[in-house]
Amino acid sequence: MLGQMIKKPLLISGLIEHAVRFHGDTDVISVETTGGIERTHWEKIGINARRLASTLGKLGVEPGDRCGTIAWNNRRHLEIYFGVSGGGMVCHTLNPRLAPETLVYVINHAKDKILFVDRTFLPLVANLAPKLETVRRVVVLGPRDAEVGAMLEGLMFYDELLEAGDEAFKWPELDEMTASSLCYTSGTTGHPKGVVYSHRSTVLHSLVGCGPDAINIAARDTVMPVVPMFHVNAWGVPYIAAMQGARLVLPGPQLDGPSLAQLIDTEQVTLALGVPTIWMGLLAALRDGSATAASMKRTIVGGSALPPSMIAAFQDEFGIELIHAWGMTETSPLGTLNQLKSKHVGMDSAQLVELRKGQGRPPYGVELRIVGEDNMPLANDGLTQGRLQIRGHWIVDTYFGMDAPALTPDGWFDTGDIASLDAEGYLVIKDRAKDVIKSGGEWIASVELENIAIAHPGIANAAVIAAQHEKWDERPVVVAVKSPGSELDAAGLLAWFDGKVPAWQKPDAAFFVDALPVSGTGKVLKKELREIYGAVLTGNPASCEA
Ligand code: AMP
Repeated sequence: MLGQMIKKPLLISGLIEHAVRFHGDTDVISVETTGGIERTHWEKIGINARRLASTLGKLGVEPGDRCGTIAWNNRRHLEIYFGVSGGGMVCHTLNPRLAPETLVYVINHAKDKILFVDRTFLPLVANLAPKLETVRRVVVLGPRDAEVGAMLEGLMFYDELLEAGDEAFKWPELDEMTASSLCYTSGTTGHPKGVVYSHRSTVLHSLVGCGPDAINIAARDTVMPVVPMFHVNAWGVPYIAAMQGARLVLPGPQLDGPSLAQLIDTEQVTLALGVPTIWMGLLAALRDGSATAASMKRTIVGGSALPPSMIAAFQDEFGIELIHAWGMTETSPLGTLNQLKSKHVGMDSAQLVELRKGQGRPPYGVELRIVGEDNMPLANDGLTQGRLQIRGHWIVDTYFGMDAPALTPDGWFDTGDIASLDAEGYLVIKDRAKDVIKSGGEWIASVELENIAIAHPGIANAAVIAAQHEKWDERPVVVAVKSPGSELDAAGLLAWFDGKVPAWQKPDAAFFVDALPVSGTGKVLKKELREIYGAVLTGNPASCEA
């Protein structure tokens, strides 16, 4: 033997123990479900995670069993992340905004044994309870409370569980391939599918995710994941914050612009993460002048396309850099981040604006390619569009409970996104394959049209969908939300596209609504819009006014 290095499994318990040992007094700040701000620190989070892990066995939970959570981003949820996974069980974060029947499906499919539930969601769980086939215990995140206790028979209280727990609990030495957490896709077509993350994939994702060309989190940062802890593990931020010993701000249930703006100022947040719709709210709040967000230097934005006009607005008006990122539940989620290379330093600003619009490039650990209908790789010339495929250390192989891998015969995961890649590895997402508008044999990507609409000062948000057309099969139609006080009409909005795209790509019609329908993870529900507006060009329109 030539000699070798220590073989130590990559485990989530190692992340929290590192935070306890070297960053024990660093703040974890949590906006509580009952209101008010709780201040604690990494040492206490670690102690509570150990206490929780020590009690799970007594509740009849065995290694590998799924423990569901229905909770906001808060301190107890963070402890569950580490306690459940570190203890050898699987932390299954559930999206409370799913339709009740979908939640029942997901809980039964995952065979969750325990549910950890924030008080807010107890009425929901009480409703679902008769249909839950495997759940043995429901634990409310809080102290004993008679009023809450009356809401569901047999409820347990998280704080009592911890009091009975053992803070000297020794974390099990697991195999690093052990399942650590589970998150279901939103399942816009068919049933949601479960993606199982491992200790190894989570730690590798954290090691890369904290780097300067990724999320860039240091011990000196105060990080606020606004992205929910049920949306792909809050993009891995809880683990990365522990690994780096960063200050962590968990914003709880108040996710409106004014509440976030105030929290950023009072807690001096330096970095936040979330979907574009959240930052639209923050932008409006900052423009109102009630907060400055002067401490916040960077925001990572992903989950759906970031309108370029928002990048300019945050930078020019508030000095905040918006970094566009792409990922999915199946990719843990970091797939690409829009960070520059040294050759881009000093680039002229028009070129830079163009580059920053896209979703960025992959960090070490993931590979990307685009392919045609025959699954053959296409040119990386920044122009050619194809199906985006990905593979790497934290990319799904096999969905929960499935026998066969979810991969192409040559080992890539097909994302269902249509994209281009350039020679430098920069990705531009054009559309979801199912949302592409097919007009007269040509494809029209909705994202670019949406970006143009949103850049109009009279428009707050917009979605472009395919409407059926007798001659062209499909034509684009824009559905938009006006900015407050805007007097823009449909003709004005359509004229705004002149000269910005080839004439044949211009939407055929424009409609105004008070709000766009969005999913629990902040994505516009285009299927719903297609149901309402899909026939407006066929002479058989549904009830909608242009
Ligand atoms: P989810 O698994 O719910 O996070 O959804 C993943 C999907 O969201 C991706 O396949 C993309 O279609 C979309 N998505 C995520 N980030 C972006 C982005 N930055 N730009 C455009 N689409 C995005």
